[in-house]
Amino acid sequence: MNARINRRGFVAGAAALAGLHTRADWLKFFDRDEVEPEDFHVLRRPFGSDPSREISLLGCGGVRLCVERNNQNRIDRELATKIFGYCYRHGVNFFDTGYVYHGGDSEKFLDSVLSKYPRDSFFFTDKMPTWHVKTLDDAKRIFREQCERTAALGYFDVYMLHSISSPSQYDNVYRKIGVLDYLKDMMAEGKIKRIGFSYHGTHKFLAELVEEYPWALTLIPFNGAEPKGEPNRQVLAAKKIPIFVMSPLGGGRLAHLNTPARRHLAAAKPGVTPAEWGMRYAASFEGMQTVLSGMSQVEQAVENVRTFSRERFEKLAEADIAVYREAIDLYNKYKPVACTNCRYCECPYGIQIPEVFTWWNSFQGEGRLPADDGGPNDSQELRREFLVSYYNTIPEHARADRCTGCRKCKEGCPQWVFRIYTEMEKIAETVKRVRETYLAKGGRLTGKGVLPC
Ligand code: SF4
Ligand code: SF4
Repeated sequence: MNARINRRGFVAGAAALAGLHTRADWLKFFDRDEVEPEDFHVLRRPFGSDPSREISLLGCGGVRLCVERNNQNRIDRELATKIFGYCYRHGVNFFDTGYVYHGGDSEKFLDSVLSKYPRDSFFFTDKMPTWHVKTLDDAKRIFREQCERTAALGYFDVYMLHSISSPSQYDNVYRKIGVLDYLKDMMAEGKIKRIGFSYHGTHKFLAELVEEYPWALTLIPFNGAEPKGEPNRQVLAAKKIPIFVMSPLGGGRLAHLNTPARRHLAAAKPGVTPAEWGMRYAASFEGMQTVLSGMSQVEQAVENVRTFSRERFEKLAEADIAVYREAIDLYNKYKPVACTNCRYCECPYGIQIPEVFTWWNSFQGEGRLPADDGGPNDSQELRREFLVSYYNTIPEHARADRCTGCRKCKEGCPQWVFRIYTEMEKIAETVKRVRETYLAKGGRLTGKGVLPC
């Protein structure tokens, strides 16, 4: 830790955080801002493709803003505004959104919150939802809507082609339909300052794509569990295209590693959270410009600002990188579904896809899947816990066994290491097997499957 850290502010901040539990507490906390003093600032680095400007090492993503407790579809504007204000005051100057985030409300939210600040004091980025574009008119309509939703901000500092993952997709939308030329026209009109892209494909295609245009930046998933992260980073670093990281914690799952992985990290650096390990890992390699975080929770914003502050941030040393990768191996050993909770998938039948995977990972990912093999997981108590938590967490209409296999969610999901419908089938079969065994061994179920406690 750097000697410049304000130790008193840091310790007082941790104590202040521990005592705050309710939304009202958090709102008051941000008004007082007692966690860190005002001069506790996030580190900035010169922007690789425009070194006259600096960008903060931490960026605010608008994909998963905090939502109202009783309505997951509505942004909690008051609290989200305070979180963004906190980040801005502490030096964050990169704010990203997308056409589809929160059904378009994320763009409007960023417009309202950022328009209070001097326009040249931050970077604002948005994206063309590639998978929604079938004609040039689609792209024009979407871009017009985005300009309307963000009218107070006037222009996009960087506008990205969203979620490029295959040559044919890029070819069809941006070459054949002519969307890239259209975006260049928008640049000539001053509505866009720079063009970049977000990417989920292979390093082979990326090596071709980087030659297509002088891209201002690329946004890629990069974390210890993302197999395409490192090969893609190498392609971009070699081309000196600034790398912006999305999913540094795999959509939050790497902030909650399983028990063996947490123990491994704690043995190497007691007191450093898995989230700080993951965020520092993402920023520790050549070419990394900024790590984006959704920060839907107050604790995330406070911890991220602290992790990336000038006073605290250090890249992980080679030995620490090895420790972190070993911890990820321990985590992966139990094969959790690699869902990042990004919520791009839409199920017309109401299956709660990310919620089902989060629940599943809390058993499968911990090596706690009930079994019938006479081992430690062959236990009625574990079967009961498994079933109770499933039935109480996922409403009946949204469970895995309601998946029809229609594959309509396939297009939205950027992850290639799993198939939603295949995992749903596996989960439904496992729940069925566990339930049958539980009943056969004398267990009881009531109502719609909720067990008596
Ligand atoms: S495959 Fe299953 S989860 Fe996906 S959209 Fe169809 S019903 Fe929903
Ligand atoms: S299933 Fe895919 S699209 Fe849906 S939340 Fe998970 S990673 Fe995102």
